[in-house]
Amino acid sequence: MDNFFKLIIFLWILFFIFLIYNIFDVLKFKKYLQKLKKTPCNCKKELEKTDIYNKLPQELKEILEFKIKRFLNEKIFIPKYMQINNEIKILIAFYACLPTIAYKNFCYPGLKYIYIYPHTIIKKHIEQNGIVRKEMLISGESIGESVVIAWDEAKREIFHYKKRNVIIHEFAHELDFENGMVDGIPVFAYKNYDKFKEILNKSYEKAQKEHIIDEYAFTNKAEFFAVTTEYFFLKPKTLKIHYPLLYSEYKKIFKIDPEIL
Ligand SMILES: [Zn+2]
Repeated sequence: MDNFFKLIIFLWILFFIFLIYNIFDVLKFKKYLQKLKKTPCNCKKELEKTDIYNKLPQELKEILEFKIKRFLNEKIFIPKYMQINNEIKILIAFYACLPTIAYKNFCYPGLKYIYIYPHTIIKKHIEQNGIVRKEMLISGESIGESVVIAWDEAKREIFHYKKRNVIIHEFAHELDFENGMVDGIPVFAYKNYDKFKEILNKSYEKAQKEHIIDEYAFTNKAEFFAVTTEYFFLKPKTLKIHYPLLYSEYKKIFKIDPEIL
């Protein structure tokens, strides 16, 4: 047997080992999801405190509960200067998973940690992942593998203010960061990247002149995407009336009709 033949056989063996390893990995993952499906959520009591969950049809409630279980199982919650309970973790998981409701097996692959602070945080540096920030009080931050949430602000928005939502906002950034770029184009729009980008850019320019939505949206396109994602889920009529093309694109990528919420 000459050397070339030996090399071919060696490469085939390597290929089969790789194949078997991958098959084993896929089966292990499927088994994990099946086991998780059978595990009770124990989260209904907390979820029923939110308006959005109560308005969801039963089928979507079940999908969300499954996604929440997985999120709670896979992400590490790190409380800073406070103690956290199950309610805090469940509510953060709920709003994090809501924009991904149509993607049953999506669970923020790049995200590992969720830091929770009791109050708003003073942020001193200017640039973070391309997002310009001055010295300011922030209620959240998204940095790829970590998300930071100030619980007092998140709680106020969930139960009282109900027009903005820092959790949806920060996790919209996470969807944007999935390809390593910070440009306001979320992972769900990659198949239709150019069209989505064109509509986002046009809506951004229009919104800058009209000032109908929150000023913070005009920091840059990444912030525009994050703020308008909040509007899509919390104030869909405003987005639909003033930015119908953007609303229609969001409806396509999030695959949900927010008017049922
Ligand atoms: Zn932001």
